[in-house]
Amino acid sequence: MNKVTIIGTGPAGLTAAIYAARAQLAPVIYAGIQHGGQLTTTTDVENFPGFENGIMGPALMEEMTKQAERFGTKIVYDMVTRADFSGRPLKLWAGDEEIETQSVIIATGATAKTLGLAGEQKLMGRGLSTCATCDGFFYKGKRVAVVGGGDSAMEEATYLANLASEVVLLHRRDEFRASPIMIKRAMDHPKIKILTPYLIADTVANDAG
Ligand SMILES: Cc1cc2nc3c(=O)[nH]c(=O)nc-3n(C[C@H](O)[C@H](O)[C@H](O)COP(=O)(O)OP(=O)(O)OC[C@H]3O[C@@H](n4cnc5c(N)ncnc54)[C@H](O)[C@@H]3O)c2cc1C
Repeated sequence: MNKVTIIGTGPAGLTAAIYAARAQLAPVIYAGIQHGGQLTTTTDVENFPGFENGIMGPALMEEMTKQAERFGTKIVYDMVTRADFSGRPLKLWAGDEEIETQSVIIATGATAKTLGLAGEQKLMGRGLSTCATCDGFFYKGKRVAVVGGGDSAMEEATYLANLASEVVLLHRRDEFRASPIMIKRAMDHPKIKILTPYLIADTVANDAG
């Protein structure tokens, strides 16, 4: 039986693995479909402490993987498909394989909700981002568009307005789902221009990237 089973090999899962392995808990970590997690899909990571000149996302995740393995973490390149936490030991399944474990750390992360338009994948990380606090710095002094009408869109727009020359917030409806205080903050900001109703129909991915 595993003492600790970790689901997910993104930064959260691998950090948990490093701690658990160093505590002699012999963690077993399941990678799922994206070993290394979301950072494997990006280029420069500039906000991870210890890398003065930044580090490429895949390289950072490779380092974290090696660090976890060095202390005895066992990585399983499989997807956890089912869980039963109703009794002890806890049970997980990876396909047909049943796993008994004393504890589980769920570090399955998140996936950005994109618009699903042609060209989006090609532009990702090349002018198109899904995280203002991660990538906002790359847009310093530039004109940026934020798409959406919820709290996240308002928050990201307000954050970006401190860096960009102008933020244009585009929303498909005239009403916003965001909380009134967040809407007011965005509307009152001198660098945020709000355009509604605007539906993004397509993205253009030119060869220059
Ligand atoms: C393009 C891009 C650029 C980014 N740039 C930055 C940046 O520069 N700086 C920054 O701080 N943040 C950045 N982020 C955000 C950062 O990647 C996330 O905050 C971080 O990856 C979250 O880590 P996590 O370990 O929680 O989850 P994730 O990285 O999402 O990892 C989730 C893991 O869980 C696994 N998993 C999911 N379901 C299962 C299952 N059923 N069974 C087994 N495994 C499963 C997946 O395969 C994956 O390994 C960026 C994100 C993206 C998409």
